[in-house]
Amino acid sequence: MKTMVLAEKPSVGREIARVLGCFRREHGYSEGSRYVVTWALGHLVELAQPAEYNPAYKRWSLASLPMLPSEMKLQVIPQTKEQFALVSSLMQRDDVNELVIATDAGREGELVARWIMEKAAWSGPVKRLWISSQTDSAITEGFENLRDGEAYVNLFRAAESRAEADWIVGMNVTRALTCKHDTSLSAGRVQTPTLAILVDREDEVDAFSGKYYWTLRADFDGIRGGWRDGEGSARIPEEEQAQSIDQEITGKQGRVVSLERNEKIDTPPLAYDLTELQRDGNVRLEFSAKKTLDVLQVLYERHKIVTYPRTDSRYISSDIVATLPARIMALMGTPYAEASKEVLKLNKPLDSRFVNDRKVTDHHAIIPTEQRVNMEKLSKDERSLYDLIVKRFLEVLSPDCIYDSVKLTIEAAGHRFEAKSIEMKQIGWKQLAGADDLDDEDNSSGLSGIKEGDLLLVRNTEIKRELTRAPSRYTEATLLSAMEHAGRFIDDSSLKRSIAGSGIGTSATRADIIEKLLGKYYIEREGRYLKPTAKGRELVKMVPGELRSPELTARWEKRLAAISDGSESFRAFSEDIRRRTVELVDEIKTSKISFQPDYKDAKSCPACGGQMIEVTGKEGKKAVACQSLSCGYEEVDGKVTRQGRPKPQGRKDFGEDGSKADTATFADLIKASQERKQRKRKK
Ligand SMILES: [Zn+2]
Repeated sequence: MKTMVLAEKPSVGREIARVLGCFRREHGYSEGSRYVVTWALGHLVELAQPAEYNPAYKRWSLASLPMLPSEMKLQVIPQTKEQFALVSSLMQRDDVNELVIATDAGREGELVARWIMEKAAWSGPVKRLWISSQTDSAITEGFENLRDGEAYVNLFRAAESRAEADWIVGMNVTRALTCKHDTSLSAGRVQTPTLAILVDREDEVDAFSGKYYWTLRADFDGIRGGWRDGEGSARIPEEEQAQSIDQEITGKQGRVVSLERNEKIDTPPLAYDLTELQRDGNVRLEFSAKKTLDVLQVLYERHKIVTYPRTDSRYISSDIVATLPARIMALMGTPYAEASKEVLKLNKPLDSRFVNDRKVTDHHAIIPTEQRVNMEKLSKDERSLYDLIVKRFLEVLSPDCIYDSVKLTIEAAGHRFEAKSIEMKQIGWKQLAGADDLDDEDNSSGLSGIKEGDLLLVRNTEIKRELTRAPSRYTEATLLSAMEHAGRFIDDSSLKRSIAGSGIGTSATRADIIEKLLGKYYIEREGRYLKPTAKGRELVKMVPGELRSPELTARWEKRLAAISDGSESFRAFSEDIRRRTVELVDEIKTSKISFQPDYKDAKSCPACGGQMIEVTGKEGKKAVACQSLSCGYEEVDGKVTRQGRPKPQGRKDFGEDGSKADTATFADLIKASQERKQRKRKK
């Protein structure tokens, strides 16, 4: 008898097959004497479309909302139905008597496998491969320690509840908004609060009006100091005031009235989880969140030199500690060899800031594997990202950075000045990071030799005009943080505490959400910044308040975690989702607000004459898209990518997927006209 192994995708499946000695390569699977290894292509099965529950749902109309199927149905995804048929036929083989789930070790991976098993009616015993690296040894060990499939049923329940909640809320709210306002609008549990964060910031930017202020710096015998008011602020509201201070101190002596020296210890940062790495990838490499994830996936799967990407832990568990020397040794063939040797020599005892079993649930932080690295084989992007991961890993294992922060207060002609300096004692982990930039009033040469009571001559002064700064727009990096710490946007302090640690979306899905918002023209790029389009801003006004705030989604994410650890029933959650959806749909149906986006001077549509929206979309390309639901005309970089249609008359309900609504309406019109002709002919 043989055991069937189900991986998430072909590349991973073939690797597992190789390690398990399944050398017979067939189309869609590999086989050996003990195992048959096959794979999904991501999801092969999904929740059925609305029309599967009720033919009346085929058409989009307000009257048929809300749609609340009591039991969700599954359907095979049409585009990949051949692979499903193959996997399903392997499951039916008489010589296959056991199944190992080897999809991604996480919530979504569990769902990929269980839905396929359910649709293919698998009834045999189930085991789970749960590994955090794709190295040969990790796979071998994983197969020696297969877990019982039963232990992951709750994780599957949580995954399924997530999918169901997204279907019920998304389908209903999207249809309600689209039908109500006659334009393609969509909303969802995660995308809408994310969009709202960007819209709120844009409102702040609009409301902001800049003011000038002045600063004054003086050179006291080579020491740079900045003017301060009684509260310690460096801002001088009027230019005349700045000039009169300047005149008063010029040529005078200043006296050192205080010198404070404080020892500061900067501990190393924690290791990377996915969100933190996406943030740094954006700030340092200008990668989008999605690009970081894609490149990371290659480092994990193909090169096998980093551990599991989709993690939200920044810690390692105690069982990993013994493997650290081997992981450091693996870096010897890289530019980090010297730094690695230093770290090995140190043999720094690891404390709970990095090793914490309680803070590692599904997977530990992203760190290098024991696989020797051949830098030649990495592309430029892979190298850069790998560089971040290795540096961070070595930083974590390096000593603290210790320095004295020195602050000098100087008085001159009744005015107060401050001078600062940093005196390094042990650079520690910052050796790898490189020193931070010094600000204008810092004195890199140090303030040693200065003592209280010293008299210093004002040699030079400098007045600068500055502008108060508008709140800055989000970059992908700061947006990821905002999504992760969505609690910050919640006013209710007890709720804020209760959802601490759960944000909007999960680390595995945040990049997709940003891409989705770009793809739907709700947001656009402006340099490294993201800002909402007129359509996005208007949409946020239309959606029910509950969907706008991160509160609902954060609460749900917390409950999904509870379902996953078995402390909440998925049935209670499912009932609650349905109840909420009734309220949400009702709110849209009865809303008095109308959809009036300000598309400014975008052209009108050459196909239907309707309103067009112009945005800077993915990869900085200019896109123009018609906003009339029945048209769909689109141009990217001046080339027509989708042909539009003239406006059909009369009908105000839509076809099966909303955006293509018109096709249904059109087909109906044509069919009706053909029928009329036929009837005429018969007569
Ligand atoms: Zn059009």
